[in-house]
Amino acid sequence: MDRRRTRVVHVGGVLIGGDNPVVVQSMTKTDTKDIDATAAQIRDLTVHGCEIVRLAVKDVDAARALKLIKEQVGIPIVADIHFDARLALFAIESGVDKVRINPSNIKDKGLVRAVAQAARVAGIPIRVGANLGSMDATTRPEDRPQALATEALHEAALFEEEGFRDIVVSVKSSDVREMVEAVRIIATSTDYPLHLGVTEAGPLRQSLVKSSAGLAPLLLAGIGDTIRYSITGDPALEVDAAWALLAALGLRRNRPTIVSCPMCGRCEVVNLLALVHELEERLGEVHHAVTVALMGCVVNGVGEGKSADVGIACGKETGVLFIRGQAIRNVEPARFVDTLIAEANNLLTDRAPQ
Ligand code: SF4
Repeated sequence: MDRRRTRVVHVGGVLIGGDNPVVVQSMTKTDTKDIDATAAQIRDLTVHGCEIVRLAVKDVDAARALKLIKEQVGIPIVADIHFDARLALFAIESGVDKVRINPSNIKDKGLVRAVAQAARVAGIPIRVGANLGSMDATTRPEDRPQALATEALHEAALFEEEGFRDIVVSVKSSDVREMVEAVRIIATSTDYPLHLGVTEAGPLRQSLVKSSAGLAPLLLAGIGDTIRYSITGDPALEVDAAWALLAALGLRRNRPTIVSCPMCGRCEVVNLLALVHELEERLGEVHHAVTVALMGCVVNGVGEGKSADVGIACGKETGVLFIRGQAIRNVEPARFVDTLIAEANNLLTDRAPQ
């Protein structure tokens, strides 16, 4: 797949754009002034694989808190600022790795210049963009994608006028088609790296569908350099979802994936659903990208079990263990999950099957 050609920006030690892998982002949901709670949430997000985290900066205290938060965490932090450009200056002083702000919201053009200058001196990029929520409500639905794209490019141009080009662009909408269309327009209009997301995508199930429906066609077309799932809920869910999508699209893998069948009347194990849930829960014990299959019968189970790295295809009161395509031995149902976890870990250490 050809990636869209973009500039590369540095966010702390993370590179966005160019040939670099698509970066997983999330946003904290704590009050940024609560330093310990925010740092703890970032550390949890880091465990889940978050690579860049954005924090809402509502006031000077929050901007100041960023310094102490940054000392406690290991991934780059981004200050999310609306309207008050002085907060961007304080955040940059606090050592943030990137700022999210729209210069058109800054009335004093001297402050736009000051933010661009401070970011340049600090060597950090700025994300600008357009969001359906901030668009003119009278814009006709059919005109919105172009309007979003035009507005985002306008935001970038305001910093370009200050000679600042270390920019990431986003165009977001809660409408999947609008977001996709707006991003496609932007992608052909600029070489800035793009941050993708369906905004205000709702609670978990709805967001998983909407965000994936929006992000997948763009990523498969080589468009998009960072992603965020917007989910009303624990931000770790956003990170898990982002990784699951990147793995499903074959773009990145950092963790195991499960192949399990939907079950039907041929299923040979009564409690397969519970076993798959248990396997999913315990997959955190496997720290490498491996495919683990648990299939209800031999009809599709043998093929899927064989093509997974480790798999079990169920038969009557037993299951056949496959490792990298080879049938190894029979396993009793009570040992399915333990066996799959153990053998998945064995593949990392290259030990012989037990
Ligand atoms: S693997 Fe077997 S039990 Fe599972 S859905 Fe396919 S045919 Fe049904």
